[in-house]
Amino acid sequence: MTHHEQLAANLDAVRQRIAAACRRCERAPADVTLVAVTKYADLDWVRGLYALGLRDFGESRPQQLVERAAQFPADVRWHLIGHLQRNKAALVLPHVVTIHSVDSVRLARQISTDAGKSNLSARVLLEVNVSGEEAKDGFSAQELRAVWSELHALPHLRAEGLMTMAPLSDDMESSRPVFRALRNLRDELLQFPDRSQLSQLSMGMSGDFEVGIEEGATMIRVGSALFEGLGEG
Ligand SMILES: *Cc1c(COP(=O)(O)O)cnc(C)c1O
Repeated sequence: MTHHEQLAANLDAVRQRIAAACRRCERAPADVTLVAVTKYADLDWVRGLYALGLRDFGESRPQQLVERAAQFPADVRWHLIGHLQRNKAALVLPHVVTIHSVDSVRLARQISTDAGKSNLSARVLLEVNVSGEEAKDGFSAQELRAVWSELHALPHLRAEGLMTMAPLSDDMESSRPVFRALRNLRDELLQFPDRSQLSQLSMGMSGDFEVGIEEGATMIRVGSALFEGLGEG
């Protein structure tokens, strides 16, 4: 198989998994955005996915996102999914459609300030550390409730939803309580007086995106499943 055939087969397999999960929970596949996580992928593979029609790509490093954005047509929607340092916010803002990884009030303030300077309204997701793992970035649920009105008041920041990562596991069912808790937190925040849309839930990766979809994900972030069999990146 050529690389292109392998990529096409991988994409097809991922789409079938999405379709099967959607059937189980009576959702429309069109309501789930597949964000192809290209952080470890060769540029050629990313080009291959573009040729296959994908337009949503996720990068975890701001620098690589900006470099790659310059090498692709403007119809690519770049998602930043990794940790963002405050001093890099201005760099990525002109290139991203959504920042999935806003994990502190200080970062949110910086993004709003930088977006304001460029007359942008930054679309972001708030990252929640649902499982409470020490090493993980993200707001705790408690913290997010406490800072919610401050975040909501930032003039150039549009919080469109929440994002989380489940603890690594071979058993995708172990992600279900984490994803369900994220959705419940979203539903709770929607009851707050100064609510936003919060229509997006970014949850699910190669190993657990079916569970993400069943629990209401509107975006899944899939890397390794798309690049299987292609060798080292
Ligand atoms: C790498 C990464 C992914 C994709 O993980 P895979 O297991 O390769 O699908 C998703 N989300 C985040 C935040 C990541 O860093």
